[in-house]
Amino acid sequence: MTIDPWRITGQPQIDSYVDRWVERAAHLVNALTVTAAHGRAVTPPASGGERLAAIDACLAAPSRLTPADADHLAEVAAELRDVFGAAGRLHAAAARLNDVLIRHRAVPNLHGDPPVLAFHAPDATLAGAWVADMATALAMVVGVGQGARLGLCQAGNCSRVFFDTTRNASRRFCDLSCQNRAKASAYRARRAARAPS
Ligand SMILES: [Zn+2]
Repeated sequence: MTIDPWRITGQPQIDSYVDRWVERAAHLVNALTVTAAHGRAVTPPASGGERLAAIDACLAAPSRLTPADADHLAEVAAELRDVFGAAGRLHAAAARLNDVLIRHRAVPNLHGDPPVLAFHAPDATLAGAWVADMATALAMVVGVGQGARLGLCQAGNCSRVFFDTTRNASRRFCDLSCQNRAKASAYRARRAARAPS
């Protein structure tokens, strides 16, 4: 699989913002909401502490979140999951994102020194800021006609999501292990179809 740096706007700072926050949204959806992964049933973390541990593990760095923040992010991740694999129901995905953006007061503004463009209010909580930025980045992808890049794994018994940054938006699986699993199962199906009865 060739991964080319995919450029949504042609502006490196905006592109890196989109990459960073869409990737984070996909990580949180996978860590907090998925009930089947890589062919196996999985149980999503259920308490604030477990959720916090899952978030820190998937981001590979301890966050400054609290268990209550982790509970809040799990609720939002369940909403954001609807935006992935939604190529055939973009209006529903857009309505969902608009609702999350409004509830979390996402607003373009300049803050910091030197001023940088951010999409969360300056007084947002850390979790609230994450949500505003994730939802904004997802909206940027959907809003330029690239919603199909918000993918849902097509392998059997896997509901992990991913951000497809391939040049021709051709990615179908969450990772190589699911791609290999799907290939093997397609091969077995073809052999079974050819086998004399
Ligand atoms: Zn998968």
